[in-house]
Amino acid sequence: MSGFEGKVEVMKAAAKKALTIVLLLGSLGAQSSQLMAQADSDAGPVGVIVFIGDGFGPNQYALLQDYREILQGEPSPMQDFSENEALLGLLDTSPVGTVVTDSAASATAMACGVSTLNGRVGMDAGGKSLETALERARKNGWATGLVTSTRMTHATPACYAAHVPSRGMEVVIAQQMIDSGVDLMLGGGARFFVKAGTKQGDVLEGIHRPNEEGSSDNDLVTYAREVGKMTVVGTMDGMYGAPSSGRILGLFSKSHLPYEIDREELGLETVPTLGEMVDFAINRLSARGNFFLMVEGGRIDHAGHANDAATMVKESVAFDDAFGVALDYYRTRPETTSLMVTADHETGGFAVSYDASRKSRTPKQELSWLDRQPVSFEYLASVVGTTPIDELLEEHLGLELSKEELALFEEVTVSGSATSLFFTHLGRQPSAVMAHLISRRTGLIWGTGGHTDAPVFILAAGPGSDQFKGMHSNTKVGEVLLSLVGK
Ligand SMILES: [Zn+2]
Repeated sequence: MSGFEGKVEVMKAAAKKALTIVLLLGSLGAQSSQLMAQADSDAGPVGVIVFIGDGFGPNQYALLQDYREILQGEPSPMQDFSENEALLGLLDTSPVGTVVTDSAASATAMACGVSTLNGRVGMDAGGKSLETALERARKNGWATGLVTSTRMTHATPACYAAHVPSRGMEVVIAQQMIDSGVDLMLGGGARFFVKAGTKQGDVLEGIHRPNEEGSSDNDLVTYAREVGKMTVVGTMDGMYGAPSSGRILGLFSKSHLPYEIDREELGLETVPTLGEMVDFAINRLSARGNFFLMVEGGRIDHAGHANDAATMVKESVAFDDAFGVALDYYRTRPETTSLMVTADHETGGFAVSYDASRKSRTPKQELSWLDRQPVSFEYLASVVGTTPIDELLEEHLGLELSKEELALFEEVTVSGSATSLFFTHLGRQPSAVMAHLISRRTGLIWGTGGHTDAPVFILAAGPGSDQFKGMHSNTKVGEVLLSLVGK
């Protein structure tokens, strides 16, 4: 073959390829218009996915966006969603009887559409059980799932599948969640399923820290297997190896899943990320037809309570990545999928303010603390032992303390508080002092160790999303979810 003939052959091949692509696009176009026609005739969605960032207030969102853009140079799926598809609304989070909500009252509002007292799980202020969106979906034959980075029995997931007057009743919640018939539950919290005195590794093969014992009154792992007909697993491999049909309960840690920032330090090969759990959940539930899925980024709140900004932003990134998995799914079926992301409340009175060092620095330098801190305050507290606090902070955080700063820790140790430093409510005092020391050197500031009543945002797309336009009570989320999954 001459050089010219060779070129002709290549051109012919290219033309053939181009034609194939045109034909393929043509048939895809036909398919998608068919899908749209289907969606028009059948008004309701096929999939409903709601993401709740616990403690993920507007300033936590701002920090996530700054971190993604300035330090990581990576796009944020939530920002992408917000720029391209989502409608933005605001939610007032106040519960019955007080101004500032807890996670239980807020999640009840977002699961059942009714305002209630703090601490209530799936019950109104009078103690009456309320129908949740997940329960209605299940009643109508939908596949259902709950994914969280906290204990499965913690307030947010519990409010979708349990009914108790007080969120502390976690053993009762565990049994109710098994009885509820939810098809898929993935998260932490083995302790309320594993019977007291039993090593969790004996019933959940391969689980992180197998020698730790459960604290349940009953053996709910066996109950889930025998009565609930669930596959119960303690590791990511176990999750992937589960039979493809039937119910599944994944409990990957004794309590909450460890913080993402501590993943390397703790060696967490057996614990899936939030994104891996969401990917698994969407694949499994969507294969069954109509499905409802609630995903909680639960430990953003815990890092907020501890005033631990570096840990909080890493939890927010994991939440954002997990959201990206759902967004990819949404984009293949936008006419029939309702996707939303919101928060239950703000935690910490957090903000990024002017750089406290008062030096002229680049934005990257201003936020550099977030990547300098290698572990969480929680991990630091767990390794304190006999090491003096100043040595510990210098070794792990590179903080050199002045005499006056060291005295703050002594004040906390001796009197149990350093309230002179703070406006209100600090349950975790040593971590609050650490946060204060970091605030003095950065622009990462905190107002409280508790929640605030800052309005939270909701980003929503797909069927039902237009109802979030404007500012509403957070009960709107529950109302819309209930209406989306049928009557
Ligand atoms: Zn909280």
